[in-house]
Amino acid sequence: MKSFTLINPTTLDGALEALVQAMDRRGRSKAALLAGGQDLLTELKEHLAEPEKVVNLKGVPGLATIQVDGALLRIGALASIEAIESHPIIRERAPALAEAAATIASPQIRSVGTIGGNLCQRPRCWYYRLEEAKCIKKGGAECFSYSGRNKYNAIFGGGPSYIVHPSDLATVLTTLDAQVVILSPKGTQTLPIERFFTLPSEGSVLKETVLKPDEIVVEVQVPLDALSQYSAWSKFKERASYDWALSSVCVAVVKDGSTVKRARVTLGGVAPIPWRVPAVEALLVGKSLDEATIAAACEEALRGAEPLSENGYKIPLTKGLLTRVLRSLA
Ligand SMILES: Cc1cc2nc3c(=O)[nH]c(=O)nc-3n(C[C@H](O)[C@H](O)[C@H](O)COP(=O)(O)OP(=O)(O)OC[C@H]3O[C@@H](n4cnc5c(N)ncnc54)[C@H](O)[C@@H]3O)c2cc1C
Repeated sequence: MKSFTLINPTTLDGALEALVQAMDRRGRSKAALLAGGQDLLTELKEHLAEPEKVVNLKGVPGLATIQVDGALLRIGALASIEAIESHPIIRERAPALAEAAATIASPQIRSVGTIGGNLCQRPRCWYYRLEEAKCIKKGGAECFSYSGRNKYNAIFGGGPSYIVHPSDLATVLTTLDAQVVILSPKGTQTLPIERFFTLPSEGSVLKETVLKPDEIVVEVQVPLDALSQYSAWSKFKERASYDWALSSVCVAVVKDGSTVKRARVTLGGVAPIPWRVPAVEALLVGKSLDEATIAAACEEALRGAEPLSENGYKIPLTKGLLTRVLRSLA
């Protein structure tokens, strides 16, 4: 690990100031934000990140609260994954969010890892994580997974990088139409979560989000409505104990009797961003969740998938998860 200066601001302004001061004239940052440290510390130890300054957010008060404000659930960026998993209102009114939180990592990691860090965590692709491999995510020329070992990589939205986004909370929050509140020196901005994540072909291939080096995620907002109420989640991981998703599915529906009036469907573990499938949402509207509809939804959800040499299994796996989730909502 390269040595760094640890900065412990006690206000958000102080944290912003530290980020701004750590930028060079070309807008490049020499700082990294620290929340629970469950990803950043590994990045530091493996020389994937070598900031000169680490700005510790944990001394900033008020960032870990979870509160219901009218019909809005407001989750502070430092709220732990464990707090989300066990929060009674989230369990009752946005069950998929609590269910997904419960499938993340281990109890120890959930008690320390935060929602802000979970959304901003870096990819788990082993070429990216291998210090010696200068892959495209680290400024190299190619994505080694494309012609190399790609069992865990993307079947949608890949190129020029084929990572999958590792955040389970992101998959659910996309389904629930959440917003990310971002603080920058220019003020506060509220962004639909779908605009927070970027495909490698759209933004910078070096990043997974639109976040700039002088910006901080301060809150995540989730509408508590009929959609969040009937939300469900399923995830398949290689190790039963703790692991990232090989594939995951989140669905939320509003029904009138047995007829679907509104639906949102997002796949996780299959693309560099949470992969929303509007064609499936449109297919579900006006139907009841019978077996024929579920089968058609599964076909539609995986239409256009482009598996690499070792990850074709994600197609039947994801169909299985979607079947399970739709049956649970039927
Ligand atoms: C063994 C293991 C298994 C895991 N399994 C899963 C899993 O199954 N599903 C899953 O979703 N995750 C999984 N994770 C990831 C884990 O949930 C994340 O590492 C954790 O949520 C990161 O949160 P943190 O608060 O520790 O972030 P940190 O490690 O402190 O930060 C992570 C990144 O986010 C940035 N950051 C943090 N907070 C902010 C903020 N407020 N604004 C802007 N940038 C910020 C940091 O600069 C850093 O780049 C696993 C991790 C481990 C170690």
